[in-house]
Amino acid sequence: MINFTGICNEQMFLHFITVKVVFLLSNDLFLLKNEQLKPRRGESCIYCYARPTHSYLNLSPGLDFETKIIAKRNIAEVLCADLRRPKYVPRLLNIGSATDCYQPLERELRLTRSLIEVMKDVRHPFSIITKSSGVERDVDLLAPLAWEKLAAVYVTITTLDGELARRMEPRAASPERRLRTIRTMAANGIPVGVSVAPQIPFVNDDLEQVLEAAWAAGARTAFYTVIRLPWEVAPLFRQWLDLHYPQRASRIMARIQEMRGGKDYNSDFASRMKGHGIWADLIKQRFEKTCHRLGFNRERVELDLSQFKPTTKNGQGKLF
Ligand code: SF4
Repeated sequence: MINFTGICNEQMFLHFITVKVVFLLSNDLFLLKNEQLKPRRGESCIYCYARPTHSYLNLSPGLDFETKIIAKRNIAEVLCADLRRPKYVPRLLNIGSATDCYQPLERELRLTRSLIEVMKDVRHPFSIITKSSGVERDVDLLAPLAWEKLAAVYVTITTLDGELARRMEPRAASPERRLRTIRTMAANGIPVGVSVAPQIPFVNDDLEQVLEAAWAAGARTAFYTVIRLPWEVAPLFRQWLDLHYPQRASRIMARIQEMRGGKDYNSDFASRMKGHGIWADLIKQRFEKTCHRLGFNRERVELDLSQFKPTTKNGQGKLF
């Protein structure tokens, strides 16, 4: 059990841990497993598939996930060492796929910024995904790296409905603020995409409008997933539905189960991101049709793995 030693405010606790490994490469092509480049844990989106990772620390995926933040204070140092291992083969790395790497505490902790500095130092390409405007602070690092095909940013926008966003993602920036972040990235020449994930049946139903707004703001790539409810996320999500959508809760869950072979969740690798069945096909068609109409995913910028230089001139790995 972890002792939470620091208190950030009356509702939020902060605890620092040290980690030994950053990389445990997963089966996801070019993506890192949950625990990899996430500098800290602890947030609050109701649909978050990363909630169960708090259980690894004997913490609850519900309240503890939302109130106890685990910061990996040495993550940059360990990443630096990992990238310089002789057997390391460069691949696209993502920062923030299973925790938002620009949570408010990043302003003081600067863990994400330190990861970017490591990547810059060894010229390793990476992408960042976030719901936060905090990424704008690091434009000074990101813009030159983007120019050299070493960095790209994705901003997640699940809906344009501010009220719904507050219910689903209570600690994230408003949709309008996230659009402004897309504009800032684009204005600074940083390739920026929009993630419209997750799509939830009968909850966020403005996929086309989100894509249109993101396109107008400067996003040029887009992707989506459908909701995933692994382990403890399913009962938490059901409670949330009962609270906010009592009239349609059973209809929503029926549609989710239809996409997952009759279960709340099916980890089948081929279908876990997009689901299958009529509703999953419909979302796919709506997404593809709108992307095609607007022009998304035509000018995908390929990040350049060939620039990776794990050692300094004298052949030694530089560790801060
Ligand atoms: S911001 Fe992303 S990682 Fe954080 S709780 Fe929401 S969905 Fe999960």
